[in-house]
Amino acid sequence: MTVQKLRNRLYDTEEIQRKDNRFLHPWELMEEVGSNKRTVTAEAEGIYLYDSEGNRLIDGPGGMWCVNIGHGRQEMADAISQQIMRITYNSPWSTTSGPAAEFAHQLAKRAPGDLNNVFFTTGGSTAVDAAVRLIQFYNNYLGRPEKKHFIAREKGYHGSTYISSSLSGKIRDKDFLDFETDLFHHIPCPDPLDKPADMSDADYLDKTVADLENMILEIGPDKVAAFVAEPILASGGVIVPPTGYHKRCLEVCRKYDVLYVSDEVVTSFGRLGHLFASEDVFGIVPDIITTAKGLTSAYVPMGAMLVSDRIISAFDKDKGGAMYANGYTYSGHPVAAVAGMKNLEIMERDKIFEHVREVGPYFQEKLQEMRDIPIVSDVRGMGLMGCVECLISDGSGGGGEVLAMDYDIGNRIDAHCQKRGLLVRPIINMCVMSPPLTITKDQIDDMMAILREGIEATMADVIAEGLW
Ligand code: PMP
Repeated sequence: MTVQKLRNRLYDTEEIQRKDNRFLHPWELMEEVGSNKRTVTAEAEGIYLYDSEGNRLIDGPGGMWCVNIGHGRQEMADAISQQIMRITYNSPWSTTSGPAAEFAHQLAKRAPGDLNNVFFTTGGSTAVDAAVRLIQFYNNYLGRPEKKHFIAREKGYHGSTYISSSLSGKIRDKDFLDFETDLFHHIPCPDPLDKPADMSDADYLDKTVADLENMILEIGPDKVAAFVAEPILASGGVIVPPTGYHKRCLEVCRKYDVLYVSDEVVTSFGRLGHLFASEDVFGIVPDIITTAKGLTSAYVPMGAMLVSDRIISAFDKDKGGAMYANGYTYSGHPVAAVAGMKNLEIMERDKIFEHVREVGPYFQEKLQEMRDIPIVSDVRGMGLMGCVECLISDGSGGGGEVLAMDYDIGNRIDAHCQKRGLLVRPIINMCVMSPPLTITKDQIDDMMAILREGIEATMADVIAEGLW
């Protein structure tokens, strides 16, 4: 069907979907190549998307936790287009640009502690990749080439390059691809749901921290280069660690001269109500922060690694000769840098962090209300990131293991919600919500009403199918 919508443009859904079969999408199920019929998102404004059939959808996942200032801001378009006409691109090797220099300066000024050095990348995966490579470079330079092992967590997600995906700990993604396994190690995810019923919170915190220390000791402190952790495990299902976890892990890292990399690709740029969550929410100053997504609110791709003076100053200027031979054609792309600058200006001018601190608790409270739906097994989150987890396999919505029959619940809920005007991010049996940060309380009410209907409709289907 061809529709006319919003800004008077025409969309032919079937034609787009037919051509889309030549687009091999990220995380594509191979049996669906050539036949998948995805929703065609055509236009967007603020927190709303419009599909090619003219339906309005609330952008529940905010793109992929990235459209932080909302869609379609004219001033972003103006800044980007003006920069394209001023200078489209410059080589970051031999030259620099005003926007890249200014953006690095502004980020360094706002970063925690001595994280005063900004390395620009193309996205989150390349930021994590750059961190691993910098740390290996650093240890080689310091004459300890054996200090190369990295520790991350099960259920963590750090990206899709060979290195960053090797750091990721999501088991389900590891079925058919190859990964570096010699240098990358995983400890259990500090998931409050995994806490044994008879264990106190304090004991569970001790156990999760001991997991890190034991792994360092097992590999050997002289061999462990860094611990890499998301402040809140995002794609793993919005898992908020026990209070004090990051601080205690940082202490363990300091004890064994292990660097701490905080992967803030999702949690920075306002998602938790602050520019960076490491210091302001979790009270730590790591050695490296990786960021992307909200860095430009997805208007154009960009990532960054923020590095401490302590690491950079380990390279002896008098001695010279040590080159960090790693970087991208698009490192510090001036158009991306302008988008980043304008994005930051908007966030600060419009008090978006303060807004998230105000509406975040309301969003969490409303999300918690889903607990009364029988198939909902857990609800969790912080700031403007949340997750509703469902289980049907044990017939009670509580506790049990995720079985094959649970795998489709997220997709089913998403389909029901889309019919009602909300896009959800389904991950197996979970629905992740991370709307644009500009969302108002009224819009949160709309979003939650649809989410509830979508989950209840899914539950009705499950009962009709005799699965509950
Ligand atoms: N780190 C984290 C914590 C992420 O959530 C993601 C993406 N979801 C990445 C890294 C990878 O970022 P990108 O997809 O931009 O490469």
